[in-house]
Amino acid sequence: MQKILVSSCLLGTPVRYDGTGQKLVHPQITTWQSQGLIIPLCPEVAGGLSTPRAPAEIRHDKVITNADEDVTAAFRLGAKKALQLCMSHNIRFALLKESSPSCGRNTIYDGSHRGIKVAGMGLTAALLERNGIKVFSEVQMPALLKALASC
Ligand code: SF4
Repeated sequence: MQKILVSSCLLGTPVRYDGTGQKLVHPQITTWQSQGLIIPLCPEVAGGLSTPRAPAEIRHDKVITNADEDVTAAFRLGAKKALQLCMSHNIRFALLKESSPSCGRNTIYDGSHRGIKVAGMGLTAALLERNGIKVFSEVQMPALLKALASC
């Protein structure tokens, strides 16, 4: 059985920038939890950021808060820790929160802090994909289940 890295906020843990979680309600999550297959992580907390924290967006190759603080180093550290965690558990699949500057799989915010989404990947999602780990967002559960069934 494959273990799956899951964004902590999708499990309801209040680690988002505004101190909330964003629980994904899906029967498969409950099943994986009962089987001990879920490895949770919040890359931003793992990178040393506090909760709550200033919202941050990717601007060019940096991550910048809405107060113009450069938090790139913490985001990169969180991504590195996510990859290390995957390697230590032989994880090949991840379920990450869409649109986050860390976890976003298909979309991110455009860096203007005006709520505009563009195509792109968060730092953690991109690092995991570059290292052969298949990343899916919470809106791609069917695709994740299909990928798991065929491996
Ligand atoms: S970094 Fe990922 S796990 Fe942490 S709050 Fe943001 S989306 Fe959720």
